Amino acid sequence: MPRWRLALGLGLCLLASTGLWALWQYVENWQLVSHVPYYLPCPEIFNMKLQYKREKPLQPVAQSQYPQPRLVQRRPTELLTLTPWLAPIVSEGTFNPELLRHIYQPLNLSIGVTVFALGKYTQFVQHFLESAEEFFMHGYQVRYYVFTNDPAAIPRVLLGPQRLLDIIPIHGYTHWEEISMRRMETISRHIAKRAHQEVDYLFCLDVDMVFHNPWGPETLGDLVAAIHPGYFTVPRQQFPYERRHISTAFVAENEGDFYYGGAVFGGRVANMYEFTSGCHMAILADKANGVMAAWQEESHLNRRLITHKPSKVLSPEYLWDDQKPLPPSLKLIRFSTLVKNNNRLRN
Ligand code: UDP
Ligand code: MN
Repeated sequence: MPRWRLALGLGLCLLASTGLWALWQYVENWQLVSHVPYYLPCPEIFNMKLQYKREKPLQPVAQSQYPQPRLVQRRPTELLTLTPWLAPIVSEGTFNPELLRHIYQPLNLSIGVTVFALGKYTQFVQHFLESAEEFFMHGYQVRYYVFTNDPAAIPRVLLGPQRLLDIIPIHGYTHWEEISMRRMETISRHIAKRAHQEVDYLFCLDVDMVFHNPWGPETLGDLVAAIHPGYFTVPRQQFPYERRHISTAFVAENEGDFYYGGAVFGGRVANMYEFTSGCHMAILADKANGVMAAWQEESHLNRRLITHKPSKVLSPEYLWDDQKPLPPSLKLIRFSTLVKNNNRLRN
């Protein structure tokens, strides 16, 4: 075979293999590109409904019956509406009750309330319950837990539908400070024993108080505290926190957000369990050291709320004191302490 033919054959072979290689590269690239459609929406996945673990799924509300948000009329106010950690501070004019009703009522929530009525404080129960029946969580399932050392002294107040009263006998204590300090322990034990299966949210309230205006779902949140009526216009340095290092309720000068009242706190029942058990443990530690915090349980509540910030803060509308005149910054009072003679009641 002449040499030129051999060279031509080899050249053609080289050309053909280069062409094949180029074709293969093209096909390979084309195959890569052709993978892309597999990453596009795949009907099986997109149609899959993930069932997240939710205790109370939100019910869809038909658009037509859904109240449309309207602009809230701004009014001059001295009250903040948002904390620095972005928790709402609830007061009249900051929420739309109708809108909240449409969101919360289909959830079929059960709201628990704990109150303590020991010794002479049983006299407050009637007024407390009657006013709660009128104003507290109207239209919702409510379960009152009244802890008392004298069940016979608890009046049988007529309750509305879906509202229950449980009277729970407990020991009485001789000192009123002890009664106040024992509340956290009693509440946390009660949540563990029963309330965690009976209610979704729990409010812990003082009994020497009366409802004057509606208290509704605007107050529901994971952890809710109320600004103390005596300290909402006072600088932080003057808050009556526990200032002794020896107490577990100690708060340094540069700490603190609001001064919260011990007479009103609440939240989701699981959060309330954590909260009351945590306060109870801090109280026990103080006791072991022979310390009583400046404002007993309220000092521990305030200490804990600095490190465990409330997800919602209630304005003093929700915790007022009948002895104080109504300041112009508050539009109305919803829940207020009765004027009482502490010396006569506590001795
Ligand atoms: N309490 C009670 N019997 C007492 C003292 C206190 O049942 O002898 C309960 C009651 O629920 C009361 C709460 O503990 O509302 C807190 O006590 P108090 O209202 O006297 O404290 P203050 O609000 O005056 O700080
Ligand atoms: Mn009180």
